Amino acid sequence: MIIVLFGKPGAGKGTQAPLLAAALGVPTLATGDELRAAIRSGSALGLEAKAYMDRGDLVPDAVILGIIKQALSEPRAAKGVLLDGVVRTVPQAEGLAAVCADLGTQVDAVLCFDIDDDEIVRRLASRTICDTCQHPRGDAEPGDPCVQPGCPGKLVRRKDDEPEAIRNRLDVYRRQTAPVLQWYRTHGTKVATIDAVGSVEEVTARALSALAP
Ligand code: AMP
Repeated sequence: MIIVLFGKPGAGKGTQAPLLAAALGVPTLATGDELRAAIRSGSALGLEAKAYMDRGDLVPDAVILGIIKQALSEPRAAKGVLLDGVVRTVPQAEGLAAVCADLGTQVDAVLCFDIDDDEIVRRLASRTICDTCQHPRGDAEPGDPCVQPGCPGKLVRRKDDEPEAIRNRLDVYRRQTAPVLQWYRTHGTKVATIDAVGSVEEVTARALSALAP
């Protein structure tokens, strides 16, 4: 089972991904988390990605497709994977389809979390994430401890949550990412739109019911 979580930055994909993955019994792949981990480790991948990410631009498709290919080939992905933050361009959709075809699988559904720009700007301006496990919070201050069980991390602001980067990310979404939905529709993949405004539990329930047969 391969599910693509889709939507504007700040739509709640990162909050919903672990909840949906637990309910569906598959792991998550969050390319943003992978890239931030690469930056922290000082790897060549991290060095290449950092400037793009700080500006709110997309990291080149070849880099993302390398991450996807490796993750989908791992044994932990044998039953499928929930993709959080992939697919963000039409070439990524094409590349993912090719990787899936090689592995004898396919994207089963795209869940599009729907939310308007004003709500996004409000959410991202008050978002913090854990510097260790990356879990996002909307109701805490930088420096507060992470509340995920057993995590020793502390909350920080993301550089790409600054107002200028947020504006750029929304613009990038409209120009490069939004056309991906039409690509999936024309290729016969189920696309379900989920109202992303509501409590975390409400949005999880809407997403799971959209996936029900
Ligand atoms: P996220 O944590 O999903 O908001 O991603 C943070 C940043 O990582 C994005 O603004 C991009 O710079 C980069 N990124 C993450 N996933 C992708 C992707 N699939 N394609 C291109 N860039 C990505």
